[in-house]
Amino acid sequence: MNEINILLADEDATMELGAKLGAALTGGGIVYLQGDLGAGKTTLCRGLLRSLEYLGAVKSPTYTLVEPYEINNRRLFHFDLYRLGDGEELEYMGIRDYFAEDNLCLIEWPERGEGFLPAADLIVKVLPLAMGKTMGREAKINALSSLGSNVVTQLSLSLSFKQLAPNKVE
Ligand code: ADP
Ligand code: MG
Repeated sequence: MNEINILLADEDATMELGAKLGAALTGGGIVYLQGDLGAGKTTLCRGLLRSLEYLGAVKSPTYTLVEPYEINNRRLFHFDLYRLGDGEELEYMGIRDYFAEDNLCLIEWPERGEGFLPAADLIVKVLPLAMGKTMGREAKINALSSLGSNVVTQLSLSLSFKQLAPNKVE
């Protein structure tokens, strides 16, 4: 399965999606996280790291661009490229090493690094969703590799999430 849309009714649901992605990507992978400021991209990363029992603060590494984590022999890199001036900066940072096969890379604002980043296994787009008085989110998830497809299939079988119908018009 290559595509799934999931209702994220509240912050906990976004955290849970992060946890599920972490559980499905034990062998590493590249995840692009798209959506406006405040959409919930960092919340999803926090959920993933918390599920691995990482207890420290998880903030968007806006100024440092990347935050490395090593948890139970897993290497994770959380990027926030919002303030990236030029994609070439990524080369100077030596990011190629970060994208080793076993590493899990979560990349906020991947658009800013276009042309300098490896292709994604998964693209997760977080969008605001008006639901009565509260604002939840919708996660639109697309797989771009067989690894990504496996993850989408796993998410589709999970009972934790309510799936939303695919939107024909973007
Ligand atoms: P981003 O990294 O995309 O800029 P953050 O994760 O830093 O966004 O902030 C998202 C904000 O939205 C937080 O205040 C968080 O509590 C809230 N939030 C996250 N997921 C949801 C959700 N599913 N429904 C409502 N609010 C959410
Ligand atoms: Mg963020």
